[in-house]
Amino acid sequence: MPELPEVETVRRTLKNVIIGKKIKQINVFYDKMLLNETRESFKAKLQGKTILNISRYAKYLIFEFEDVSLVSHLRMEGKYFISLSSIPYQKHEHIIFEFEDGWSLRYHDTRKFGTMEIVSKGSEFKAKGLDTIGLEPFETEFTLTYLKDKTHRLSRSIKSALLDQKIVAGLGNIYVDEILFLSKIYPGKKCLELTDNEILLIVENSTIVLDKAIKLGGTTIRSYTSSLGVTGRFQNDLCVHTLDGEPCKVCNTLIEKTKIGGRGTYYCPKCQRM
Ligand SMILES: [Zn+2]
Repeated sequence: MPELPEVETVRRTLKNVIIGKKIKQINVFYDKMLLNETRESFKAKLQGKTILNISRYAKYLIFEFEDVSLVSHLRMEGKYFISLSSIPYQKHEHIIFEFEDGWSLRYHDTRKFGTMEIVSKGSEFKAKGLDTIGLEPFETEFTLTYLKDKTHRLSRSIKSALLDQKIVAGLGNIYVDEILFLSKIYPGKKCLELTDNEILLIVENSTIVLDKAIKLGGTTIRSYTSSLGVTGRFQNDLCVHTLDGEPCKVCNTLIEKTKIGGRGTYYCPKCQRM
């Protein structure tokens, strides 16, 4: 699943090539991914419009037009590709935005879990998912006070709390494992047992890990690659995620894998004591 750094990589890549392009025609091949729209209303709201900007919040891409924004969530396998409009429809392409200049933006999704929602400009946080989302680590309000307030009464594990988009926006399985490793916190530790210092470490390491991942173009794990074939390099810098059986970079103890909150979780049993 693309996480915040991968979505940011997609945003930057797309921004370089499609800003200013005007949509001539839209082909929808799978309309169940459209929220609150029929195929016809979706086309009517976007055809003839120009993409003025692409922004992002957490794992949501936001295509900004004159009067509306298109909020896109890639979910498990969604990808965007740019190709000439003359190239025929390819398997798993669900929506094709054809531009006036002969190029097209194609949404490709083998799992079909991605969603698209049109909202009026300025109402992006009314889109489904964004209406309940927590702060992303890059927000200045994402502080010890914020995270402590959201978690200090919870008996659930810190790992599952950090994966909860209503608490922190944009963190997924890979980066939560890395953040907890750097913070020397066992992922199964209950939120209510965390010290202020531990919460502060999580706050600080969240931006450090995400910043670094964005600089390296995100992580390419399993089937996920960003649009235009851009491959992330952050997987070479992972400390624990997917590294079970490998020696810890800090203490040489072998990294272990367990399940916490139903998710595969990697940690160093020495650096991250229970
Ligand atoms: Zn270690």
